Amino acid sequence: MLSTTSDEKTGMVQGRNRVKAVAVIPGKPNTIHLRDVPKPHIGDVAGGRGVLVKILRVGVDGTDKEINAAEYGAPPAGDDYLIVGHESFGRVEAIGPNVSEFSPGDYVALTVRRPGSSLYDQIGTYDMTTDDTYFERGINLHHGFLTEYVVDEPEYIIRVPENLKEVGVLMEPMSVAQKAIEQAYRIQQRLRVWRPRRAAVLGAGTLGLLSTLVLRLRGLDVTTFGNTMPPFLNSRLIEELGARYISTKELSLTDASVNYGPFDVILEGTGYSPLVFEAMNVLAKNGVLAMVSVTGGSRQIEIPADKINLGFVLGNKVAFGSVNANREYFESGVKDLSTAELQYPGWLKKLLTHPVRGLENYAEMIRLLTEGKGAIKVYCEVAAIEGHKRPPHEDQSMRTGPRVQPLSP
Ligand code: BGC
Ligand code: ZN
Repeated sequence: MLSTTSDEKTGMVQGRNRVKAVAVIPGKPNTIHLRDVPKPHIGDVAGGRGVLVKILRVGVDGTDKEINAAEYGAPPAGDDYLIVGHESFGRVEAIGPNVSEFSPGDYVALTVRRPGSSLYDQIGTYDMTTDDTYFERGINLHHGFLTEYVVDEPEYIIRVPENLKEVGVLMEPMSVAQKAIEQAYRIQQRLRVWRPRRAAVLGAGTLGLLSTLVLRLRGLDVTTFGNTMPPFLNSRLIEELGARYISTKELSLTDASVNYGPFDVILEGTGYSPLVFEAMNVLAKNGVLAMVSVTGGSRQIEIPADKINLGFVLGNKVAFGSVNANREYFESGVKDLSTAELQYPGWLKKLLTHPVRGLENYAEMIRLLTEGKGAIKVYCEVAAIEGHKRPPHEDQSMRTGPRVQPLSP
């Protein structure tokens, strides 16, 4: 196998053995900063299995906000800083001699979690680890992707077809939706026949929108709930999929389920945990509730425990939690993103509302993430997506080019 050394060439010719990265000091709030770090090398992975990926785009979400607020996240052993960013999209630049899965020039996304020691980690299902400690790139104990280059093993890298390059940065949030929905369907194999008709998605941000898409692709009647009063971009996007948007300011989940339920599948992804119990209460008999909100707080509420319990028992209902995703769900994500481009052309691109050009603009990125009005996906354009292979020096213009891109409304 060819061991391209264009990374080395780039490093040598331009004298760049160091790259830029956006990092935080975990444990200290609001420490996001730009720093110089050593450029990773394909030799960092043993056995000639390293893949050097040039990062093109990285999406950010609530987890990054929490990490910068020092509510979450930990640095790798030996470092006091953590390079953030877990929603990756890039292009293979060089491969080790024993890599047959990729070629330089392939577009790719990387998974987030890396295996620990449990049985589940050993069989590629690190998203199902039973270890107390979990390793996640850009989140916990491993550096992330908000940098110019990363190196990893083929196992954690998923090829993205060139036709999806404009929306490839949605791969990671898509994988989270894929896992939750696929797990729900597998759990429902407990029923000899399960023909779900109606679904509710709680939350109308990136995850809610992608979950609505996935459920629509599976042919369900979907009602998606959010806070904001319609019409606005998210509600229009939901309606473009043939789904229904409801603001809980107008109609509660409980009231809406009288008109549009009972819901055979409910996916809760708002980050507001009390909704889980309201969802349990309105879930259809034989229904399944997927919980995907990572709620770091300590909120307490009163719930109608007997009523929910009775409904679950007499209705044979299931509720389960779902976190992260392994490569299987990134692969099914590629398929659904492809189908979406055919069935709802141009829809996915409309989620990419707030590009931020260049790692240098990390402050603007965090600002948009915290206060950005009308933001669906905030992401960093680390380097330009090329229509063709360009010599490495051309990329330099991108790094020093215009700093801020005008925002979409
Ligand atoms: C990420 C997941 C991760 C979870 C918990 C989410 O924001 O998308 O990959 O497992 O946070 O850390
Ligand atoms: Zn995330």
